[in-house]
Amino acid sequence: MSVIIVGAGITGLAAAYELSLRRVPFTVLEAAPRAGGLILTEHIDGVTIEAGPDSVLAQKPAATALCEELGLGPRLISTTPPRAAFVLKRGTLYPLPSPAVLGIPTTLKGTFRYDLLPWGARLRLAIEPLIPRGHSITSVPSECPPPGPSAAGDEDESVAAFFRRRFGPATVDLLAEPLLGGIHAGDVESLSVRSLFPRFVEAEARHGSVRRAFHGTRAHGRADLFRSLSSGMGELIAALERRLPAGALRCNAAVQTIRAKSGRWEVESAGGLVAGDAVIVAAPAHAAARVLALLDERSASLCAAVPYASTASVTLAWPRGAVRHPLAGSGFVVARKHNDVRIAACTWVSSKWAGRAPVGFALLRAFVGGVADPAAVDMTDDQMIDSVRRDLAGILGIDTPPALARVHRWRDAGAQHTVGHLARVTEIETRLSTNHPGVFVTGSGFRALGVPDCIADGRNAAASAAPYVKIGR
Ligand SMILES: Cc1cc2nc3c(=O)[nH]c(=O)nc-3n(C[C@H](O)[C@H](O)[C@H](O)COP(=O)(O)OP(=O)(O)OC[C@H]3O[C@@H](n4cnc5c(N)ncnc54)[C@H](O)[C@@H]3O)c2cc1C
Repeated sequence: MSVIIVGAGITGLAAAYELSLRRVPFTVLEAAPRAGGLILTEHIDGVTIEAGPDSVLAQKPAATALCEELGLGPRLISTTPPRAAFVLKRGTLYPLPSPAVLGIPTTLKGTFRYDLLPWGARLRLAIEPLIPRGHSITSVPSECPPPGPSAAGDEDESVAAFFRRRFGPATVDLLAEPLLGGIHAGDVESLSVRSLFPRFVEAEARHGSVRRAFHGTRAHGRADLFRSLSSGMGELIAALERRLPAGALRCNAAVQTIRAKSGRWEVESAGGLVAGDAVIVAAPAHAAARVLALLDERSASLCAAVPYASTASVTLAWPRGAVRHPLAGSGFVVARKHNDVRIAACTWVSSKWAGRAPVGFALLRAFVGGVADPAAVDMTDDQMIDSVRRDLAGILGIDTPPALARVHRWRDAGAQHTVGHLARVTEIETRLSTNHPGVFVTGSGFRALGVPDCIADGRNAAASAAPYVKIGR
């Protein structure tokens, strides 16, 4: 008697860990030859390369708490000061203000000194506390199935609509798109503010103003917002794998379908049939759609309606002297409509984290692709490296080829929580719990955003699945 977990990304592994704490037997079926999903760290010639996430938000404690539980507490590291971040506009890097919350300064002084914004935009931002509360409800994008009855009354709007309404139109292209859209490689005109940035929605609802709500928030630029592990995020995956009982993780075992059979669940995978009392689907929503298709057509179509973006990260290293820019900060994002470059963002890895590159080297990681540039991932490695190098040459003052270059592509990997997302997820969860009790969906395609949320969501799913296993406990 056991739980079957579909997918061994951080969500599936966190679910597995939680079940092992509860002494509930389980099997993890993973399509790929390795566990970890989007978390992958490589070590080449003394350089630590993160292919996917490089850090976790300290504000959301689920990830750091899990690291502590796994004995990784002493391995947790913080970003290196100065922690300044920049926005590229017309070839110039403008620092984000401090204190600020997601690019919105929390003081009037910071607002008026916000050189990135034209004067009119600064004035408009300054009067945000005077803008009355209000909702401009955006319709659900037409490619998504309309929400079912359970979703009635849900109100949502796009990130762009929220920014336009509260902070003024100039902040959409200069702040929302590069910063908030950039985090998700998405289009702020369709991303859901309620799903992705509930802090903003709550701030308006409770205080009538975002700036008023965040007034007094400590300085983002100076505060220690992010944590990682000394040898990279891959340490977390390795520690979780070590906790799995022998044989509990089966790789190269892509799940095809879930069927009800004699009061239990039968899961068909590339590795054969497995039966269980509960199933936790911790795969991307497009994979969940295929897995659930025979069980619940409506849930499958709602899963299939979660759009995904493809991105690539390009890691490059130069001798430090080859980069003329001081690299005093953590990196920059690109305001796409105000520049003619293909990169969306660049992390100054060797400035952001200690020990990621040998002394005397500058390690940079640039991102291309996303909803705005889906064809970018189809470039060859050489084309991509060349394109990134040309972009960085002008911005950071680099004339020579990199000493090291590594490309990682993530196709259909970034879930896009578009307007109406939470209503659709609620409908999937309600349908499954009503019609197929014991089957759960979890992870970044559903309620979770980023690694800490995935960990919390996976552990919650395990806590919900555990009571379905009645024997052997
Ligand atoms: C480039 C990049 C940078 C990022 N940076 C950060 C960051 O710094 N901080 C942060 O918090 N978040 C970051 N994120 C987001 C974060 O990586 C994700 O939110 C998180 O890793 C998602 O984990 P998951 O387990 O839900 O999904 P995944 O990691 O996608 O795992 C899903 C697993 O399911 C498997 N699978 C798929 N189909 C099947 C099937 N049919 N049967 C069995 N298995 C299947 C997949 O192979 C995969 O292993 C970043 C994402 C990207 C792409």
